Parts: sequence; structure tokens; C-alpha cells
Amino acid sequence: MSSRRPGLLARLLGAHPAATAPAGAATEQDRRMMTRAIELAGQAGAIGEVPVGAVVYETATGRVLGESFNTRERDADPTAHAELVAVRQAARTLGDWRLNGCTVVVTLEPCPMCAGMLVNARAGRVVYGADDPKAGACRSLFAITTDPRLNHRCELVAGVEAEACGRLLREFFRGRRRARRAGNPPDA
Ligand SMILES: [Zn+2]
Repeated sequence: MSSRRPGLLARLLGAHPAATAPAGAATEQDRRMMTRAIELAGQAGAIGEVPVGAVVYETATGRVLGESFNTRERDADPTAHAELVAVRQAARTLGDWRLNGCTVVVTLEPCPMCAGMLVNARAGRVVYGADDPKAGACRSLFAITTDPRLNHRCELVAGVEAEACGRLLREFFRGRRRARRAGNPPDA
């Protein structure tokens, strides 16, 4: 973003109440969990799912409470995004729907559905990899997880291993286009 036109920028950002929310820094634990989330994303890609992976861990102890990848195609479920499935698992593990003490790590910026879910789950921290300019709801299109008008705000850490997370997605879609051109559409 250019800093030469602060007036315009400020006006544009004014539409997003949380655009000025400070982004937290990734911990060593976050990075380790992101490595696992990237592994899970790779597993999704290998079965024809859009490669997104997620891990939920207890922030204080590092205990993993849930992990998943995107299973939308396999389960014919529009809500089966990686972080949503992982959060459900984590809540079951904890026996509590409130995840204040948890960190949700996901390779791609959560969409509006998942960002809303994270607020409803009272997720303490959200750590994601690649920005999603087309559907991202943490800071790209919306800033749902840090919107001060909502009753809960998550600490947000963006851009962890963003390059590796984004590369998985780019390669997946490139492969899909190539298959389509070759007249060999994937089952997806
Ligand atoms: Zn989502």
C-alpha cells in the first residue's frame, strides 16, 4: 500500500473498523503448528480437496485439541472448511464450546463463515498463513475476528509461512487447470 496518499488510505480503511487492529507476532509454537497445518493441507490436495489445513492447540500448554483439512468435496459439505472442522474437534476434546484458551492455526485466511465461527467460539488467538484477497474475512475483505462491534475479538497473527501456504494453493489450482485443458477434469 502506498503511503503517499494517507488521506485516501485513511478514508478507505475507515470502512473497516478493525483495519488498524495491531497484528500479533507468531510464537515458536505457532510456527510449529503451522508446519503441521501445511502438512495437513498437503494431504487435502492429494485427495483433490483445496489444500487448506488447520490445527487447534491449547495456547498455554501446546496440547493439540483438533486438526483437520478441508473435506468439502469428500463430505459434500459446504461448511467442512479446515478450521471449522478442527474447531469442532477441539470443542469436543475440551467438552466446552468456548475456546478462549486456544489458538487456531490455519494455512489460509478464514472466510466470512469461519471468521464468524471463530468469534462465536471465542477463539483466543487466530494464526493464519496466506491472505485470501477473494474471501478473507480477518483483514482482506472484512475484519470480522477483530471487529470491535462484536462481543469477542481474537488476537490475530497473519502471514505465518504465507509463502509455503500460498504456494500449495497456487500449485493445486494450476494442476487443476492443466487437467481441465487436457480434457481430463478431476472428480472435484
Ligand atoms: Zn471458511
